[in-house]
Amino acid sequence: MPSINGQGGLIEVKSVTKGEELPPVEKADIVVVAGRGVGSADGVKLLTELAKLLGGTIGGTKKVVDAGWLPADRQVGQTGKTIRPTLYIGIGVSGAIQHIFGMKESKIIVAINSDPNAPIFQYADYGIVGDYRDVVKELIELLKSYKK
Ligand SMILES: Cc1cc2nc3c(=O)[nH]c(=O)nc-3n(C[C@H](O)[C@H](O)[C@H](O)COP(=O)(O)OP(=O)(O)OC[C@H]3O[C@@H](n4cnc5c(N)ncnc54)[C@H](O)[C@@H]3O)c2cc1C
Repeated sequence: MPSINGQGGLIEVKSVTKGEELPPVEKADIVVVAGRGVGSADGVKLLTELAKLLGGTIGGTKKVVDAGWLPADRQVGQTGKTIRPTLYIGIGVSGAIQHIFGMKESKIIVAINSDPNAPIFQYADYGIVGDYRDVVKELIELLKSYKK
């Protein structure tokens, strides 16, 4: 069975989600969260593809919801949903306390951010510093290669 680190150890991908409907953020075991750093609705679309390949769902910060890139019921944080997934992946998320409030009890926290000083890294079990486009595209290719 494929795993996110390619060694069968870290996160097992049990199934690949088909179809457009993704579970609500508070019900999913794997949640990919888009922050303002993804830059556009197209950025959120790329992250949604990643979430589907992982068998998870997509959520966002308040800034993403306020920008209209995701509906309000997908907002994670103090004024959104509280989530406790096995795996939280925050991408382009700075880690403001109001956001942390809603996801800090996630079992494994992964952060992808171009700023090595982003506060979210203080909470992350695993951190990747880089432009999310490069990192996410590589992850998507990796996950697709497991399907072949
Ligand atoms: C009363 C109140 C309630 C609030 N409730 C909530 C809430 O429920 N949920 C919530 O999320 N927020 C909430 N907020 C807002 C919160 O304070 C922050 O403003 C918000 O969480 C920041 O969102 P963000 O991380 O998406 O954006 P930003 O803080 O703008 O961070 C964007 C991040 O993206 C990174 N980045 C930029 N470009 C790239 C790239 N190419 N690749 C990778 N990384 C990149 C940047 O380094 C930065 O760290 C609330 C605020 C208040 C005052």
